[in-house]
Amino acid sequence: MNIFENLIKVDESGNIVYNLWFEWDHFNIPNNPPILRSVMRKLMAFFNHCLKCTALDGCYLLESKSPPQPLHENCDCSKVRISQTKVENKAQTSCSIDKISNYIFNSENNKGKKDLFESWGYSIADSVEIQNELKNQALNNYINGNYELRNLDQYGLRLAIPVNLRGNKFYSGWMLEPEGKIRNITPFGGQINERK
Ligand SMILES: [Zn+2]
Repeated sequence: MNIFENLIKVDESGNIVYNLWFEWDHFNIPNNPPILRSVMRKLMAFFNHCLKCTALDGCYLLESKSPPQPLHENCDCSKVRISQTKVENKAQTSCSIDKISNYIFNSENNKGKKDLFESWGYSIADSVEIQNELKNQALNNYINGNYELRNLDQYGLRLAIPVNLRGNKFYSGWMLEPEGKIRNITPFGGQINERK
């Protein structure tokens, strides 16, 4: 596979963007299955291997949007160059319907968000539509490098990804997982102020 495929793109503002993807690698950590990965991460942590680093193992990141490497002194991590096409082929999103129907539209715990989504013309009956929009838009934006880095801890790296629902732009929060998987953790993470 040619790693230079789709390397150069032109963004919405007409700027040339280089999509240089790599897979974060830490030795001895398998990407799959999740149980073995978890066991190996715990075992390696016992030998003082950083849990942030082993959480990043297997994750696809853009050279220009990644935590620094080395992440810390004596960091064992390295980068494996991958193509844009591989990211496009492997990337997938997951978003539990509960995050929408039982979280966004929960009037007891979540009055603000429910009111906001209702002001955009949505109701709990639109939960599947919102779920699909979040998944599709986040997938597209991630593949095109339209993501921002958020908190990194032992559980992994969080990404803020822009979403547009009926003209309302906001960030949704995702956990980055191995091999291009992103899992929704926060459907609504704050409106985007456009002041450019
Ligand atoms: Zn490291």
